[in-house]
Amino acid sequence: MDLQNENQSYKNKKFSKKIFRYKREKNNNREQNKTQQMNSADNRKIVSNNQIISIVIPLYNEEQSLMELSLSLKKVFDILRCNYEVIFIDDGSTDKSFEVIEEIHRRNSRYHCIKLRRNYGKSAALSAGFKATKGDIIITMDADLQDDPNEIPELIKTLNSGYDLVSGWKKVRYDPFIKKHTSKIFNYFTSKVAGVKLHDFNCGLKAYKKDVIDSIKVYGEMHRYIPALAYMSGFKVTEKVVKHHPRKFGTTKFGANRFLNGFFDLLTVAFTTKFMKKPLHLFGFLGIISFFAGFLITLYLSILKIFYDASISNRPLFLAGILFMIVGFQSFSLGLIGEMITKSSSHDEDVFIEKTF
Ligand code: UDP
Ligand code: MG
Repeated sequence: MDLQNENQSYKNKKFSKKIFRYKREKNNNREQNKTQQMNSADNRKIVSNNQIISIVIPLYNEEQSLMELSLSLKKVFDILRCNYEVIFIDDGSTDKSFEVIEEIHRRNSRYHCIKLRRNYGKSAALSAGFKATKGDIIITMDADLQDDPNEIPELIKTLNSGYDLVSGWKKVRYDPFIKKHTSKIFNYFTSKVAGVKLHDFNCGLKAYKKDVIDSIKVYGEMHRYIPALAYMSGFKVTEKVVKHHPRKFGTTKFGANRFLNGFFDLLTVAFTTKFMKKPLHLFGFLGIISFFAGFLITLYLSILKIFYDASISNRPLFLAGILFMIVGFQSFSLGLIGEMITKSSSHDEDVFIEKTF
């Protein structure tokens, strides 16, 4: 009997918790709708009649999220009342994602899909999407419902206030502990390398002017560094706090190797943007330091040998001195060869022109 009572009170508690959660969600939705309505008059002016907005969404096995995402996007654009297109890039999904997008397209022909033959990775998917866009403003977002489509009007507003790229900042983010913290370290180093202070380089939600998309090449796992590459190419970059949600369906598509690959890509960004056109500045500098250190060590040992008749051939320092000198010479030569290659293959492609008269 007691056990029955306990069971009953447990069920009651569970039920009242459910009701509480339901009421809270209802309230939140009501408030969201209210602010959406209040903003709607404002929003209509955000996008001018001749501007087209392209939404680019890379996805890999996200069948459960796609229909909900497309409906939320439609709601946003019903308020914005502008010309738009949504481009899904199916990055080799093995679930029903493509079929779901086909259904979405059947219902609304503004939604398109580029299906890649296999899983190439998010950067390649974004790149394929960028090439297909017709818009003047391009917005990228993830397909897993973690990015909030309701942020789109504010992103466009910020972009139109004089920027080329607006990067989302998930100030309150719903990701695993380890990812949140490693991501802070990455953001810190990327900020240092790029020279632009952003809190969240890897946010899926970003808005770009077409010029940026036409100028930046993304490959590997370089999508993390688009704001850095854009800034280093002379574009005006800023960030805006955006709402983030926990993943509703499925799991993250990036494993532990995201950290290592991300680190290598940061090295590539640093090298290709800072030293690609002047390799001697890096290798020559390192070479001279190493050669000079080796020279000082061998000079010191030579003085010991000549003036104090000390035995030096059995000292590890002797080997270190010679090693430093050889490595220094090699590094310097590498820089010179790099310069020769750069000179013979130089082209003006990487100079980005803003305006001409
Ligand atoms: N994604 C993709 N190709 C991949 C991996 C991921 O298109 O090889 C998509 C994924 O479906 C999602 C977005 O990139 O729409 C971000 O991926 P995820 O949510 O797994 O990353 P996280 O939020 O963990 O950073
Ligand atoms: Mg995600």
